[in-house]
Amino acid sequence: MTLVLPAPATPTVAVHGTDARFPVRRIFCVGRNYAAHAREMGKDPDREPPFFFSKPADAVVDSGETIPYPPQTENLHYEAELVVAIGVGGSNITEADALGHVWGYAVGNDLTRRDLQQLAKDLGRPWDFGKAFDRSAVIGPVHTVAEVGHPEKGSIRLTVNGVVKQDADLVELIWSIPEVISYLSHSIALAPGDLIMTGTPAGVGPLVPGDTCVVTIEGLGEISTRIAPRA
Ligand code: MN
Repeated sequence: MTLVLPAPATPTVAVHGTDARFPVRRIFCVGRNYAAHAREMGKDPDREPPFFFSKPADAVVDSGETIPYPPQTENLHYEAELVVAIGVGGSNITEADALGHVWGYAVGNDLTRRDLQQLAKDLGRPWDFGKAFDRSAVIGPVHTVAEVGHPEKGSIRLTVNGVVKQDADLVELIWSIPEVISYLSHSIALAPGDLIMTGTPAGVGPLVPGDTCVVTIEGLGEISTRIAPRA
């Protein structure tokens, strides 16, 4: 086959303990998966079915990178999240089988243009411009299941310039990792390389140029992002 343009590079994220990289196929994100965050966004956290949005695979950014303040927003927000890296694809995956599809876990930051997301909500429009912009998915090194098991509890914490802004525990997830994988796989066929950002705890807030944002999850280390002036 001859391509009419050069094939785009495969987006990748780091893997802990090796120079090899994890190829990213798609990025799925769970909306409102911690009760206290659902409440701060004005929603009832009772177990309404989970819902998802996506980011483009090439939105990934490594820990340690500096990100220019994105265009078209005056309210860039951080969101600390546990990220699931899928190694084995499948459809209609049962909760019992779900963890067998996981390659590893990483720390993530679901960067959000909150003003554009709110506008989309108000107008009944898609969330893409609020969530799926360039460099909107900071993903740290993936830790293999062999290395860290399947995290079910443990601290998830975010600081801005050293000040704690989000401080929760993975046990507070409304929808567990097996439930998220199973639910998602009944709607789309999961494939190797897919990432799932599992939602953020309460305490979301703004980032401005000059800020350094650090997310830490117990057992998975930390990621750091610095925000530069708008390019
Ligand atoms: Mn999020």
